[in-house]
Amino acid sequence: MNILLLGSGGREHALGWKIAASPLADRLYCAPGNPGIAKECELVALDVADHAAVIAFCKANKVDLVVVGPEAPLCAGMVDDLTAAGIKAFGPSKAAARLEGSKGFTKDLCKANNIPTAAYERFSAAAPAKAYVRARGAPIVIKADGLAAGKGVVVATGVAEAEAAIDMMFAGGLGEAGAEVVVEEFLAGEEASFFALCDGETAIPLASAQDHKRVFDGDEGPNTGGMGAYSPAPVMTPELSQRAMDEIVLPTVRAMKAMGAPYKGVLYAGLMLAADGPKLIEYNVRFGDPECQVLMLRLMSDLVPALLACCDGMLRNFDLRWYPDAALTVVMAAKGYPGSYAKGSVIEGLDAAAAVEGVEIFHAGTKAEGGRILANGGRVLNVCALGKTVGEAQARAYEAIDRIKWADGFCRRDIGFRAVARERKL
Ligand code: AMP
Repeated sequence: MNILLLGSGGREHALGWKIAASPLADRLYCAPGNPGIAKECELVALDVADHAAVIAFCKANKVDLVVVGPEAPLCAGMVDDLTAAGIKAFGPSKAAARLEGSKGFTKDLCKANNIPTAAYERFSAAAPAKAYVRARGAPIVIKADGLAAGKGVVVATGVAEAEAAIDMMFAGGLGEAGAEVVVEEFLAGEEASFFALCDGETAIPLASAQDHKRVFDGDEGPNTGGMGAYSPAPVMTPELSQRAMDEIVLPTVRAMKAMGAPYKGVLYAGLMLAADGPKLIEYNVRFGDPECQVLMLRLMSDLVPALLACCDGMLRNFDLRWYPDAALTVVMAAKGYPGSYAKGSVIEGLDAAAAVEGVEIFHAGTKAEGGRILANGGRVLNVCALGKTVGEAQARAYEAIDRIKWADGFCRRDIGFRAVARERKL
C-alpha cells in the first residue's frame, strides 16, 4: 500500500515509525513532516489546508490510505473530502470531529446520554457567564468552545481569574474559538488519557497512558500541550478501563451513530478519575501527543490493519497486542515554552542519546539546516524509552537526555513520578 501521513509533530513521527514497520506499507509519504519523520517517510511539500492539493497528490501517487494526525484538518473536513474523492482516510468526518471542535457540542451530548462529566453551562456573552461564575464560586473552569491549540482552558482558582478569562475569550483573545464559552465545575482527582479505536459502531481500547500537562516539575505551572507521558498508567486499572468503555466511550459511539455522524478513528477521552468513577474532561479526535509516542512503542501488532479496520467498519473481531514493557517519553521544549520562545538554536548529541538501550527519539519542532538539527518550535523533541518498568524506562530516557547538548532547551525531570511511586509500593 501507498500511505500518506498528514502532520509534522512528534505524534506523526511515532505514527510514521510504526507504519514504516508494517509489511503492508509500500511507499510512505508525509506532509509536511519534519527532519525526524524524513527518516521513515518521503516528505512532501503539501499545504495540508489545501484539500484539493492533497487529493491531487493522492491520485497522482496512487495513495491507498491517508492517516490524518492533527485535529485541525479533521475539523476542517479533510476525511470527508478524501472519502468523496474515493480515497480511504483514517480519522473522523467533520461532523464527528465536533467532539473536539466544539466543547459545547460534547457537553450537550454527555448530558443527553448520561455520560459522566462536569456540570456546565454554555454562554455566548460575557455578562451572563460572569454571573454564573459568581453564583457558583471558585475553583471553576472556563473553556473556549472551539479549537484553541491547547490554550482554550483556564482552571481558575478565584472568581476574578475566571472573570478575566471570560473577558479575554469574548474579547477575541483566542479568535473564533472563544466566540462561545463553556463554564464548568472543577473536578478533583487524577487524570488519565484513554484511547479507543472506533469504526462507527464498535470501539476497542488501546493500552492505558498518562501525560503531564503542566510545564514544571511536580505538575506545577501553566498547562502545555504535554511535557511527557508513559504507558501503562497503573492508575487505570482494568476495572476503570471497563467503566470508561461502558459509561463514556461506547455511549458516545452509539450517540454519534444515532445522530448520523458515526465516529471512525481514534477517540481520545481525557478522564478525571474522581472518587465516584471516571468522568469525561474532554474528547480529542486524534491520538494524543505525546501519548501516541509511548503507545506506538508498546504496540506489538501491525498498526496498518487496525487503521484499515476503523475505516472499513471491521473492528468487531479485531484484537491488538501490546508488549508488556513500559514506555515513557520526556518532551524537550524551547526555554520559554508555553510562552514565547526563540527558534533556531542548535541541538547536538542526538546520535549518542539514541544509542542508550531501549531509547527512541521522535522529532516534534525541529528543522534540518546545513547538516545540523535546529529547534523550530515550542515542543522540540520526544525522548522515549522502553523498560521493564516505568522506572527503568524513565532512567533510560533521562540518561539519553543527559547526552543531548541543547543550551536553549529544557525538560521536566520527573516524568512518570506517580507511576514510579506506585511501582515502589508494590
Ligand atoms: P482540556 O483541554 O479540556 O483537556 O483541559 C486542559 C486541562 O485542564 C485538563 O487536562 C485538566 O488538567 C484541566 N481541566 C479541564 N477541565 C477541568 C475540570 N472540569 N476540572 C478540573 N480540571 C480541568
